[in-house]
Parts: sequence; structure tokens; C-alpha cells
Amino acid sequence: MILEALDIRKLYGAYVALDGVSLSIREGEFVSIIGPNGAGKSTLINVLTGVLQPSGGSVRFKGKDIGGIGTVALTRLGMARSFQLVQIFPELTVLETLQAAAVSRLGRGARLFASLAGDRRVHADALEVASLFNLADKAHVLARALPQGDKKLLDVASAFALRPEIILLDEPTSGVSTTDKHVVMEILVGAAKRMGLRAIIQVEHDMDIVFGYSDRIIALHQGRVLADATPAQIQADAKVVDMVVGRRRAPHSSSAPHPTLSPEGRGNSEPSPPSGGEGRVRG
Ligand code: ADP
Repeated sequence: MILEALDIRKLYGAYVALDGVSLSIREGEFVSIIGPNGAGKSTLINVLTGVLQPSGGSVRFKGKDIGGIGTVALTRLGMARSFQLVQIFPELTVLETLQAAAVSRLGRGARLFASLAGDRRVHADALEVASLFNLADKAHVLARALPQGDKKLLDVASAFALRPEIILLDEPTSGVSTTDKHVVMEILVGAAKRMGLRAIIQVEHDMDIVFGYSDRIIALHQGRVLADATPAQIQADAKVVDMVVGRRRAPHSSSAPHPTLSPEGRGNSEPSPPSGGEGRVRG
């Protein structure tokens, strides 16, 4: 058990946003949290990442209580997070962005850019992450000039550059075209495997992505866990399908041997690293 939430309650004034949520994340899992708007997904993510202190219950990461611990402390403990809306510095290059993450991990935030140029370790570290995310050929491109698919990859890559043990992704494919979203996921899952991540948790609305990549799905509804089961079990649960999932289109195969973003999503595309096939953290 890496991450465990026990009977979490979260109140906003008198409003109960989370009402007794319990879940656990195990070694090697890719878990998706789904639910309609207002179900409590963002609140849950904020509690799981130590941003919000729960009103009741506890969250334990690697056995340590992390309720309200804050992002910086949690990153040091080994959990990183990426956001729904891309959070990159537009005027930094791809490499500078990843170097900034590497520097913050190596604990020299105060000397951030003064020491970057000559720091081979930081450079090599950032370049390795760039390669894992198919961004090495864009290392010196400004973040703002990247196509949307690459911006999203860079955002996720900078969370990976913190070298977390587990990562929490808030809609990793939001804003990415239908053509490119599976490519983004294949690159992301491939990078997670190669970097040895112990688990991935994502909040995602796109059911193709949810069903294509999850080992387990946790469906929230009105602040409670409606279901916590495998994709196949979720698919067979009429209540969950009606209340949360909706009727789906034909299932998508997640295997993309050579994930590459489409021209509009990426510009000149390069061959990518092997993804490892199945969309799981550890194959
Ligand atoms: P989701 O991410 O699933 O859409 P949220 O966690 O954002 O759900 O919200 C759950 C419920 O809590 C919603 O009804 C929302 O209006 C309410 N809520 C969220 N944040 C606040 C807040 N800061 N103050 C008051 N109510 C909030």
C-alpha cells in the first residue's frame, strides 16, 4: 500500500464535499478517479496531495500522515502532481523548464538559474526526462512556441522531473486533440515505466482514456465512492454506467507501438521511445 485515504470527509462550511471516502493505491497501479461535475474529484485530489486538510479521516502516504502537509513537503516525500491547465513558464525553453524542476529536486532552489549553465548533472537529468517525453529535439524551443500536445507533455514531464515515486495527474489529455491524446498517454505511461514510478493516479473525464489505461477505476458521486473496481467490472455495473460513465463508444486499443503526435499537435515528429505496450505503470 503506497497511498491510503481512510474515511475522508471534507466540508466547505456546512456543505459536505467528501463524505467518508476511503481508497488505497497499491504498487504498480494506474488508477483513474472519475465522476460527474461536483462529485468531489478536485477536492479529493487536493486532500490526497496535502493541499487541503480533511475535515475528518486521514491520508497516509508511505505510512505517513500527509493531511494538509503542503505541496513542497509532499514532493520531498515522493509525490508529484500535474494540473488540468498547463502550468509552464512560457519564456523558458523545454530544457530550462525541466532543469528548473531538477534543480528544485536537488535542493538548490535559491541558486536556481545562476548555476544552471555549468551544472552538468542538472543538464543531464533534464535532458534524460526530455528524451523520455519525446522532447529532446525541442530542448531549446520556448515553451510558449510548442504545440498543445507538447505543452501538455512538458507540463507532465516537469512533474516527472521531480522524480516522484507516485504521480497524480489532473486530466492529462485535456485540451489535446482526439488524435493526439492516446499518443500523450502512451508517452506518459512509457516514461513512467522507464523511470520506475510506483503508481499513477489520474482524474480524467475522457472515458476512452480512462478505460484504455486504468487498472482500476474509482467512481465518485456526490462526495462518496460509488464504485471501486476494474474497468470490466465498472463497465458491467449498470448503476455506475448510468450515473457516471455514460454509454461508451467502441472500446479503444491502447497499444501504439510508435507513439507520435500528429503534425498539428507536434510539428516535425520524431520516433518515440518504446512504450512497453500495455498502458500500465509496471508491465
Ligand atoms: P469535481 O472536481 O468533481 O467537479 P469539486 O471537488 O470541485 O468536484 O466540488 C465538489 C463540491 O464542492 C461542488 O458542489 C462544489 O461546488 C463544492 N466546492 C468545491 N470547492 C469549494 C469551495 N472552496 N467552497 C465551497 N464549495 C466548494
